[in-house]
Amino acid sequence: MVLIEEDLTALQFTFYTFIIHEFFFFLFVSFYNIIDYFGIFPNSKIRKITRPNDQPRKLYWFTTLGFNHIIIGLPGAYSIYATYQYVGVQFSGPLPSYSTILAQFIAYAIIDDFVFYWGHRLMHLPFLYKHIHKQHHSFKRSNAIAGEYFHPIDYIISGILPIMVGTLTLRPHILVVWGWLVLRIWEACDGHSGYDLIFVPFRYFPFRPGAQVHDFHHSQNAGNYGSLTSLWDWLCGTDLSYKDYIARQNIKVE
Ligand SMILES: [Zn+2]
Ligand SMILES: [Zn+2]
Repeated sequence: MVLIEEDLTALQFTFYTFIIHEFFFFLFVSFYNIIDYFGIFPNSKIRKITRPNDQPRKLYWFTTLGFNHIIIGLPGAYSIYATYQYVGVQFSGPLPSYSTILAQFIAYAIIDDFVFYWGHRLMHLPFLYKHIHKQHHSFKRSNAIAGEYFHPIDYIISGILPIMVGTLTLRPHILVVWGWLVLRIWEACDGHSGYDLIFVPFRYFPFRPGAQVHDFHHSQNAGNYGSLTSLWDWLCGTDLSYKDYIARQNIKVE
């Protein structure tokens, strides 16, 4: 049984969250870039032809990520610790039962999906798009690294807030929080990878037709604001352009 004997301190929580985040983010980014570089799954590639200038310069990749992870992420984790502790997030003790963990992951997914959709849709209001969200859309060609390539305000709204709201609502064990963080990092990298791989679990989520949904969002910039699922796009009709596009593709194929 996994057991944390004593409550983690704010510093320990910040340090472990940072290490887990960096390790898994760069692991997933490396994985998707390696399969792309060596052309390992050519049939799973969503778009076969892309223009080389459809991505921001690589120098910006690392300055943006460095700023978000270090200047936003580290003090952010440190300062949220007291609130997490106050609401009852468990910073010690044994891991809950598997059924509890599964139920908490499902609840996390529902909350995250709702918060992300509406935050992202807000970011597409003309003023916010022009000054904030456009930076994320400078990736018109998919790359897993775009999963966290955001203006700092967008990083807080789209990257941090959905997980934070879920954690404040569910108040789970810290290992469950980190488990959800890892899944969420993987999903963000997968959604921006340009690949629709058959063994990726998110592909089988209800209301998620695969990574091509967010790929369409970047290439066409027309609807598809959801991330984990397309439920809210379906309910709000913001997937109509995508459905139209798929219908036209199918006619071409026939
Ligand atoms: Zn967007
Ligand atoms: Zn995106």
